[in-house]
Amino acid sequence: MGGPVGHHPRVPGYDDGVSSYSIRQYGDPVLRQRAREVEEIDGRLNALVEDMVETMYEAPGVGLAAPQVGVRKRLFVYDLGDEVGPRTIVNPVITESRGEWTFEEGCLSVPGLSWPIVRPREVHLTGYDAEGREVSIEATDFEARVYQHEVDHLDGVLLVERLDADQRREALGILRIRALDLPGGDPDGLLRVVPDQGATEGPGLSGL
Ligand code: ZN
Repeated sequence: MGGPVGHHPRVPGYDDGVSSYSIRQYGDPVLRQRAREVEEIDGRLNALVEDMVETMYEAPGVGLAAPQVGVRKRLFVYDLGDEVGPRTIVNPVITESRGEWTFEEGCLSVPGLSWPIVRPREVHLTGYDAEGREVSIEATDFEARVYQHEVDHLDGVLLVERLDADQRREALGILRIRALDLPGGDPDGLLRVVPDQGATEGPGLSGL
């Protein structure tokens, strides 16, 4: 999806020590592991956050969880494309969820694929921001979707596990063929979603 690159804080050509990671892809065991609580918000964690934000914008994406860059810590970064810019949630917990909403959801670790996935429409999320202040957020629709997707990553759960039986069969078939690197990896045209700049369907196709 067209990431909110407009918020990109860097000045081109100015090396501020921020670097980007490669994003771990489906099949990498780190994506299946439960991440650990962050015990201290310090300079090292802040450096990680900066690099994760950089990686998210480069993708481009709207959200990125630490396991997606191979770090088993419970935090994620995101940018909803509003005036706030990039945000971080450390040790997030979804304390409540309500309703139901179907949304075409993709994942930076399962690139090029997306599915309509049913999840709760509203969530209450608690945790800490990058400065260690407690946060308590009531979110709906897309924002709530981002939180649920990223918290799943921290629990070692991938999008594929949220599919219904038919979607899942199809998805695993494609991913298996991809893993074997055989031709015919797109029998049903599911690879139609090239990380799409400027898509009109709205956010979320492949950016989490
Ligand atoms: Zn994801």
